[in-house]
This record gives sequence, C-alpha cells and structure tokens, in this order.
Amino acid sequence: MGAFSRKSLSGSKLIVVKVGSSSLIDSSGRLNSSNFKKIASEISGLSKKLGKKIVLVTSGAIAAGKDKLGSRSLSTIQEKQAAAAIGQGILMKEYEQSFLEHGILIGQVLLTRDALEHRRRYINARNTIDQILSFGAVPVINENDTVSVDEIKFGDNDTMSALVANLMGADLLIMLSDVEGFIKEGSVISVVDKISKDIELAAGGSTSGYGTGGMITKISAAKTALAAGIPTVIAGFKEIDILSKIVSGEDIGTVFVPKPSKIESKKRWLMSGKKPSGKVAVDDGARKALVEHGKSLLPVGIKDVKGKFFRGDVVSITDPSSHEIARGITNYDSEEISKIKGKNSSDAENVLGALHSDEVIHRNNMVII
Ligand code: GLU
Repeated sequence: MGAFSRKSLSGSKLIVVKVGSSSLIDSSGRLNSSNFKKIASEISGLSKKLGKKIVLVTSGAIAAGKDKLGSRSLSTIQEKQAAAAIGQGILMKEYEQSFLEHGILIGQVLLTRDALEHRRRYINARNTIDQILSFGAVPVINENDTVSVDEIKFGDNDTMSALVANLMGADLLIMLSDVEGFIKEGSVISVVDKISKDIELAAGGSTSGYGTGGMITKISAAKTALAAGIPTVIAGFKEIDILSKIVSGEDIGTVFVPKPSKIESKKRWLMSGKKPSGKVAVDDGARKALVEHGKSLLPVGIKDVKGKFFRGDVVSITDPSSHEIARGITNYDSEEISKIKGKNSSDAENVLGALHSDEVIHRNNMVII
C-alpha cells in the first residue's frame, strides 16, 4: 500500500461533516448565530465552487433547548429529550436562515439507531438522503432525541456521523469540534495510520460538557468509518475555511488513514446497521486467519462466547486481548457456539447432530475492523 497523501482527500465527492454542540454555542451556553453562518458559508463554498455533496450531522438540539429554557440544568433523560424537542426547531431555523443566505435549502433528517438496523429502513434512509442531495439541498441530520432511549440510541453524534458516512458510502468524514485534532503530548498529530490501543488510551474521556462525546467517542467513530474505507478528519471548528483547507489537502487537524479500499454496501450495513448482539472471542490462530488471510471463522478457533444471540444476528469477534477485530453475521446461536467452540468440524457435527455450515461466520458476511 502506498503512503497516504492528504492531497487524495481533494477527490472526495460525498463528504459527511459533523458539528458538535460546543461549536454552536458561546461560552455562556447561548446559540451563536455567527457559527451557523460560518458552517453554512463553508459548506456552500464546497458545494458551489467544488461541486461537493455535503451531508451535515449536527448536535445542538439539547443545547438550544436549554438556552431557551433559561439554561436550567437538565438532569433526567426526559428533561433532555424535551429540551431536544424544543431545541431541534430552533437549531433548524438557524441553519435554514444561514443556508438561505447562499440560496441553499436544507432537509431535516432525524435518525434513530433502529432506523438503520433493518435493511429496508436503512435503504429507505439512504435513498431519501440521496434525494435531498439530488435536489441540491443539504441534509441536516440529528438523532431523534425525543424517542431515542437506551438501546435505540446512537449514543452520541460522533458515532452517528460515522454510521451516516457508512450509510451513504461517503468518501470523507470530517468531525469538527472545539479541539484542533487528536492531541498527544501537547501537539496535534497530523496523520494516524492505525488506531492502536495506545491511541485509544491517549484519547481518554474528555468532554466539553455540552455534547455527549469526547475524544474517545471520536476515535471509536473514526474506527467505524475507517473500517469501511472512509478517511476521517478531526479538526477545530474555529479555524477559518476549515472545510476547504481539509479538502484541499492542507496539513490541518488529524487525518485517520482508512483501509485501502471502500467496502461494498451490504458490508457497510453490517458495520452501521446492526448493533452486535454478543461477542465471540477467538485465539491468535483464528485472528491471523481472519485478519491476515481473509478466511472465515470456524468453530476450532473460538475460545469463548459472550451474550445471548441467535443465528442471523450480528456479533463482534474479539482477539485474545479483547480487542474487536471483526464483525459478522453468525450462522449459529450463542448456545450452539458454546458447545462447539474449540472443536474441529467433525467433532462439532457429533456434538450438534448436524451443522448449519462449516463456518460459524462466513467471510462474505464479515467485516474486518
Ligand atoms: N443529539 C444531541 C443534540 O442534538 C447531541 C448528541 C451529542 O452531543 O453527540 O443535542
């Protein structure tokens, strides 16, 4: 694989841009209209001058609601959901006015995790966002906070932006925030070739107090996008012309280098749509077979199984140090796997009577992370 060049980012046709709550408000927690104008003007520049298609993922509904409610503190989930309901319209009004100054319409899309779990709804969401883009408008996406609790939650908009990038098969994901990039020992790292455990540890758990994410959620979102072959940049919102600087390949923020090629649509759904229902831990031999030799997962390489899941569910595959290395659709229930783990195929067949297939997870239904 040749060395990654930032210049290659200029070829990106479809770009997902994520803006966090802390970029849209001022230090006293009030919505700052000039920040909406900045993002609208930058996106308009990219789409009008360079013909880029941009999908905007934005936070800020809760912050906007909180601002209008007199900055009272919101402690319960219900208070936050209600604040989001109040704030979402205000957020969209700001965006609508700012984009209209450039003659651009916006289309509000509110997503929930379960909207991406079912393949049909996943495809519907993608088609609608595509159509908004074909109308020349900018899709403005947030989580549907009023109905998103627990398991249907994306959790944070960093994660959601990666899932949207995946959904759309984007060429680039840009996460703008109040930090200038991924910072290690006081300076911004320009290029991260691989998200190692060290990087994850260094990311820690910093948050600004407004968004729900922090560097750690950005790193894990980046991992999702990278696995699908989508380069990801974390950069500071405040920098002038930040989007065009990134897209023209300037050395700004941190770029995370993806896998060499993008993955096909069904595998992207595997990454974005289904939340893993459990985990299958494999030994080092199986890890090598999957990651280095492109093989399927067989019972013999499985050490352990965690969680209760059924044939057809998406599960995580973890290596001996509990690191997620792949995700895939299982051919076996968790109970069956616990009976056949570590066994060769003929022993496994004796235990179960008959096998559904030789592979616990077939290569075609697996994505290496
Ligand atoms: N959906 C939430 C909002 O708009 C934000 C979630 C996040 O901060 O990532 O307020």
